[in-house]
Amino acid sequence: MTDQPPVIEINNLHKAYGPLEVLKGVSVKAPRGHVISLIGSSGSGKSTLLRCCNLLEDSQEGDLRFNGEAVTWKGTGHNRRPADPKQVLRIRTNLSMVFQQFNLWAHMTILQNVMEAPLTVLRRDRAEVEAAARAYLDKVGIGDKCDVYPAQLSGGQQQRAAIARGLCMEPEALLFDEPTSALDPELEQEVVKVIKDLAAEGRTMMIVTHDMKLAADVSDHVVFLHQGLIEEQGAPDALFGAPKSERLRGFLSATH
Ligand code: ADP
Ligand code: MG
Repeated sequence: MTDQPPVIEINNLHKAYGPLEVLKGVSVKAPRGHVISLIGSSGSGKSTLLRCCNLLEDSQEGDLRFNGEAVTWKGTGHNRRPADPKQVLRIRTNLSMVFQQFNLWAHMTILQNVMEAPLTVLRRDRAEVEAAARAYLDKVGIGDKCDVYPAQLSGGQQQRAAIARGLCMEPEALLFDEPTSALDPELEQEVVKVIKDLAAEGRTMMIVTHDMKLAADVSDHVVFLHQGLIEEQGAPDALFGAPKSERLRGFLSATH
């Protein structure tokens, strides 16, 4: 629906770590059901953008909106913080983040990992959460791994468990930060398949990836970041098929 506001709207975002300016005015939208990929060299600000989006990092200037609701701030510049802790919690629980390093809790079984946040953060009913957790683990192809610990799984299985954990929060959108970068090539594909399935079922996602084939296959829109600014963006066919910027052409030839 064209009259719905985007699930995620980042407008003119500026972020510095002390004196280091990392984002210099970045605007990105994720309409409902769309997949946005963020590409760019190491250090270009991709992870920072996702972390600011999730309010894991403060930003100094610019707006963030979720389903049209603007984040309210207090203070300005380096003193700017979100004003409303309840709003922060609401936004964060609606954006599940999947990290390169899985970040599963080593002392919990896979099922406990997936159930933990819905139980403790959302305070949902245990039996319902368990049924949902088992269903999501099935969906990512590791329904038989409920009772084992993360160390007993391959990297690809651990990452799929992390995706099930994100899904079990029933988020409005998923944020992926290099979800396949820590995996051996043969394990990468099992995670890519899960991400493709999620895209096909109309999930709203923002994906930071070094995998240009994944970005080309799943994205509605691709954003190329260079030194904290959007250097080029567009539909994957145009961006990968006919890149306009010299920097993007250089980046793409270096990643193939
Ligand atoms: P990317 O994900 O595109 O590789 P990042 O967003 O991780 O880029 O980093 C962008 C820049 O910000 C880099 O120069 C990095 O060293 C710096 N940076 C990232 N996180 C921090 C931090 N917590 N403190 C200081 N500098 C940081
Ligand atoms: Mg990064």
